[in-house]
Amino acid sequence: MAENGDRYLDFAAGVAVNSLGHSHPHLVQALKEQAEKLWHVSNLYRIPEGERLARRLVEASFGDVVFFTNSGAEALEASIKVARKHFHANGQPERYRLITFEGAFHGRTLATIAAGGQAKYLEGFGPPTEGFDQVPFADVAAVEAAIGPHTAGVLVEPLQGEGGVRVLPPSVLRALREICDREGLLLVVDEVQSGVGRTGKLFAYEHAGVRPDVMAIAKGIGGGFPLGACIATSEAADGMTAGVHGSTFGGNPLAMAVGNAVLDVVLEPGFLDHVNQMSLLIRQRLAAVVDAHPMTVAEVRGEGLLLGLRGLVPNTDVVAALREQKLLTVGAGDNVVRLLPPLVVGETEIAEAVERIDRGLSAIERAVGLLTRGAAE
Ligand SMILES: *Cc1c(COP(=O)(O)O)cnc(C)c1O
Repeated sequence: MAENGDRYLDFAAGVAVNSLGHSHPHLVQALKEQAEKLWHVSNLYRIPEGERLARRLVEASFGDVVFFTNSGAEALEASIKVARKHFHANGQPERYRLITFEGAFHGRTLATIAAGGQAKYLEGFGPPTEGFDQVPFADVAAVEAAIGPHTAGVLVEPLQGEGGVRVLPPSVLRALREICDREGLLLVVDEVQSGVGRTGKLFAYEHAGVRPDVMAIAKGIGGGFPLGACIATSEAADGMTAGVHGSTFGGNPLAMAVGNAVLDVVLEPGFLDHVNQMSLLIRQRLAAVVDAHPMTVAEVRGEGLLLGLRGLVPNTDVVAALREQKLLTVGAGDNVVRLLPPLVVGETEIAEAVERIDRGLSAIERAVGLLTRGAAE
């Protein structure tokens, strides 16, 4: 509900953050209950909520250890440090570089803009942080060619969100795993956007049937509360001894309570089936929309409920036209409009959203004088 009383259908979900929508009763209750207890104690002390959340994340993933942060970029910073420190601790301090991919987005800190390598985010902030070698998206041969004596690992999003909802083919992730095994490198995945059920699996790397060594998550795990985590195998994290890294607010009781409450819902049997069913439904409906509007949209892409509509008119126009229809969406690279409904979205909301997309695209076509096939017939 906007200030003026207008109601919006939210298919942006705070850019994949509001995984359970707004004011989910279970999250509200968890936060309220914790708010009446401790808010902050610092990670000088062990807290049961944090230990429980870490244990659950480890049990549900490839990892052995977890470091909690307040954001995705911090989870990436921790992941990058884990990779570098691993080689330092194992007598190869010269191995500190990570291979990354064009179109990547890893956050807005100095290290993560360098890792992402996008000029529009690097511009004006001085020399980029050293230690990242970028290769074309999904180009396995280029990864092999980029490996040198300073390489520590590969950092990759299994599905690029910001970069245009581009799915890394599972065969490519498998090839990266093989290369890392062969060369003794670490496979680091950025699942800040794709993790926690968003793609229909708890983590997107599962689609490829491989296990990474290090993973950054954030966004959806907090359901709207600032929370991120770096998850790693104990071998990869063997350089991260006490005192090597830290965070004042990371792992605070409020965030831990909400993170556990999100997992209560997402790990419930059948929850991911729901995500997959809704994905199938919206993709079918969107395919019909693409057929009906061949002058404005070209294709549907993505996985689970991290979907994109590639526009043939500027995506900013599409996002604006959909907002006129009271439907919230987000732009992405490659002229894509991202559709990221809360994972609890239902059939009626999908039907309503698709109708609004149809109306929004028709409005654009009228405005620019394009005739849709439907109108021409
Ligand atoms: C959003 C995002 C980040 C950065 O997260 P922040 O919480 O904004 O720091 C990093 N990686 C990916 C893939 C993201 O989508």
